[in-house]
Amino acid sequence: MTIYHLSTECYPVAKVGGLADVVGALPKYQNKIKGINAKVVMPWYNKSFVYDHEFDTVFDGFIHQGENVIQVQIFKEKTDVLGFELFMVKIPGLLDRDNPYGYQDESFQFLAFQHGILHWLSTMHIRPDILHCHDYHTGLIPFMVENCSEFKFLKGVKTIGTIHNGEYQGAMDWDMSKYIPDFDGYKWGLMDWNKTINPLASMIKCCHAFTTVSEGYLKELFINFRGLEGLVRDEFGKAYGIINGIDTEVWNPETDPMLDFNFNIDNAVEKKKKNKEKLCKEYGLKPELPLFAFIGRFATEKGADFLPDTVWRSIKQSYGGLNIIVLGSGNTYIENKLKEYDYTYTNFALDVGYKEHLSHKIYASADFLLMPSRVEPCGLNQMYSMRYGTIPIVRYTGGLRDTVHDISTGGTGLNFTHAGVDDIIHSMNRAMKIYHEKNTMEDLIHANMQFDFSWEKSAQKYVTLYNNLFTSDI
Ligand code: ADP
Repeated sequence: MTIYHLSTECYPVAKVGGLADVVGALPKYQNKIKGINAKVVMPWYNKSFVYDHEFDTVFDGFIHQGENVIQVQIFKEKTDVLGFELFMVKIPGLLDRDNPYGYQDESFQFLAFQHGILHWLSTMHIRPDILHCHDYHTGLIPFMVENCSEFKFLKGVKTIGTIHNGEYQGAMDWDMSKYIPDFDGYKWGLMDWNKTINPLASMIKCCHAFTTVSEGYLKELFINFRGLEGLVRDEFGKAYGIINGIDTEVWNPETDPMLDFNFNIDNAVEKKKKNKEKLCKEYGLKPELPLFAFIGRFATEKGADFLPDTVWRSIKQSYGGLNIIVLGSGNTYIENKLKEYDYTYTNFALDVGYKEHLSHKIYASADFLLMPSRVEPCGLNQMYSMRYGTIPIVRYTGGLRDTVHDISTGGTGLNFTHAGVDDIIHSMNRAMKIYHEKNTMEDLIHANMQFDFSWEKSAQKYVTLYNNLFTSDI
């Protein structure tokens, strides 16, 4: 069975968040299953990866989008170093930029990306068994495959859509329809939501099955899905919640080359302490005090707007009895407020930016990881932190609910319900108590490290889902 994963991110080629981690790992683990040939198709960005690797040109052609004629080149990575074949779609002027997101013309970018992929596949008579679309950037593919005359060669190919983050739907004005290849005009409703073209809504309507990255998140979408609640309820028959795994080959504290001191379950307590001492020294923090960490985008979705108040209140209330380190970037108000506190409090350190190496060091060094998310479709940080023996403190939502259970119910982390500073501080107080009970703390480190979040189970669930599409009449 041949599966093409279509995505704007893929670790280690280009990563903004969890989408990259999933698309960089899921196909690799699927390829370990007999009879599966999973590949990835993503845009060609100006990233060091593309200059460090060799590629074959497998396609060079043009697509017509409205009045524009656009060049599309497809490159295939030569060595297969990633555990799957990687194809990159180069569209000069539109996709070959420094970052995956953040441009005014993103609707043009992603329409061209999707059109380019389908043009290549149909022109070259490549008919995959499954087109697996990830998030709204590839959300119009299921519609296009069935309804655009240009792609009639692909008609009938099974399409799957995975919602990694339903907060972003890619809605665009109907004027943009002239850039979509010729489609059956009667079918326009399959792209429409609220008088806009909504790629995520279209994906849900047109795909053969769609998944969310945890079961908890699927349930939440019925209640809060930025206007698509009714749609997801209507289409529930083809919805599945499949929890993400983590790439345990990349995220292995015993071999991770990004760590100062590698460790395993037997020497975790001692080696984590050494990692912490080194990190604290670098950031002027106090290694004898508990270290709380936050890693992620400064977005309200992540509850990052609670961070400034959490920093000053927790430091004041504990009389400087704890450290906090924050790594991330995003909303400038949050960034500036945190910068101000970085100058004010010696127990607080901020590093602004996207830093893969530092994130690994923090997971290995911290005592507790804070995730006060308002919305968390799956969340990978908590799984990385647990694998590295760091106790997660999470708001009880989405995938966090499925993966972190409170110690009061026999779990290994701390949960809180309300999205707000009071609940975060309350949980941090509970954590401080645990920190000072040496045996409990050590037991929790070991218990967290023993969780099995590997991809094997979930990779198999996706394959079962693909198989079911061929045996049922969906
Ligand atoms: P998101 O909603 O951002 O995709 P996830 O929890 O699914 O959230 O995945 C976040 C991923 O991005 C994790 O691998 C995390 O370690 C990483 N990450 C987030 N922010 C940063 C940062 N500033 N520097 C390094 N890694 C980061």
